[in-house]
Amino acid sequence: MCLNITYRPMTAKKKDESPKAPVKKAAEKVEEEPKKKVKTPELLRGFRDILPEDQGRWNMVRDGIRNIAEAYTFDRIDMPILERTDLFHKTVGKATDIVEKEMYTFTDPSNRSVSLRPEATASAARAYINHGMLDRPQPVKLWYIGQMFRHDRPQAGRYRQFNQAGFESFGVHEPIVDAQLIVLGVQIFKDLGLDVKVDINSIGTPECRQAYLAELVAYFRQHRSKLSDEDKKRLQKNPLRLLDSKDDVTKELLDGAPQILDWLDEKSKEHFMKVLEFLEEVEIPFTLNPYLVRGLDYYSHTVFEFLLLDDKGEKSQNALGGGGRYDGLVELLGGREETPACGFALGIERIVRALSDRGIDPPQRPQPQVFFAQLGDAARRVGLNLYESFRQANIPVAEAFGKNALKAQLEAADKLNVQLTLILGQKEVLDGTIIIRDMESGAQEIVDVKKVVQIVEKKLRREEGVDPVTQSPVVEK
Ligand code: AMP
Repeated sequence: MCLNITYRPMTAKKKDESPKAPVKKAAEKVEEEPKKKVKTPELLRGFRDILPEDQGRWNMVRDGIRNIAEAYTFDRIDMPILERTDLFHKTVGKATDIVEKEMYTFTDPSNRSVSLRPEATASAARAYINHGMLDRPQPVKLWYIGQMFRHDRPQAGRYRQFNQAGFESFGVHEPIVDAQLIVLGVQIFKDLGLDVKVDINSIGTPECRQAYLAELVAYFRQHRSKLSDEDKKRLQKNPLRLLDSKDDVTKELLDGAPQILDWLDEKSKEHFMKVLEFLEEVEIPFTLNPYLVRGLDYYSHTVFEFLLLDDKGEKSQNALGGGGRYDGLVELLGGREETPACGFALGIERIVRALSDRGIDPPQRPQPQVFFAQLGDAARRVGLNLYESFRQANIPVAEAFGKNALKAQLEAADKLNVQLTLILGQKEVLDGTIIIRDMESGAQEIVDVKKVVQIVEKKLRREEGVDPVTQSPVVEK
């Protein structure tokens, strides 16, 4: 074997030793003044990197969502992250926490008020109108996945930049749309191996909600002095949000408060009953939660949330997703009157975390069975081309192009537990050959470099128990 090739690094050693040595002077000068330590910029609070080691689980969630979206014939849409602020004022509602406190709003160089999107349903409705989707066969079923931004207080499962996947169905009133969206959501969790429960409620039409709100406000006014400052504000600005207050006193008061279901008109009641019947039909477990109202102004009729169940079957506090019907949204944005719509969004970070907490791991990426070791730049050049040939043949190859010594490369190959190592030195480059080393037996053979992909392919198939000629499994005799 001709591999005794010593690597001579092409460093600038000689230059350093030259008598002119202006570089050296500069270096001495630098040594005199201690270098100031550069402070590495830190992440903004509530923002995070998703590291390579986490990507497997993220992909699992993304793939799961995409598979279900395709199975239920939803079409993907991507919308900009930055929108005119007005879009969210009109839709999410000025008195909501999101618009009041949590939006990243700034003036752009054209002197326009713009905001990083805090959610994407409003953008989906805008896109539906902008692109004349009202004239396509209805329902128009869209899905998206992407980053949202809310300047909320960061805590476990709550970030300032987070990812949501959303499903929106425009143009159909029928309660089966609400039910099918819920089924679809539950299916995503089931496929991922997560147990969820659905909390559901109806908040009726804006008209019946008005009548209910008058009653709710009257009730809480009697108890105003007991309310926290936060809830006093809610009572004044957005009384519906009192229903999902986290304050213990308010929670107790809610026991005696009027319930929205009693104020639904006949049509709203009928719609809601049908949604529940459909869910019972497909055996989706749900809980009627009269206090579920959701944070945004545009909802009407059905509202729902997906809650993770722990080992004991108890619901966790943080919802993995939620949504509802928003029949008024398209009209609110200047679209056709009475365009019905329904949708929901899932929080990807929370789903990924639930998977991790339960030890649900992504499938392992197939590990390379072949390692390419090279000696010298000529071999590296051939190596680059060979690497591409193996990729085209769908054979993953590991390498350590950055290493020079054969020993170090063989050690790397050993660590990766590959079956075969390809060794290419200067002599082999000149001869047009390459060495294939069987890592288990240590046996080596020299082959024509042009045939190496085919030969390796055959060796690997034989290893996997597939006959390289007939492609059928090898039967042990
Ligand atoms: P929402 O748009 O508020 O209904 O949120 C839908 C889902 O997105 C929630 O159920 C969460 O799973 C997720 N979510 C909302 N806000 C955050 C946040 N600040 N950080 C992480 N996930 C969030």
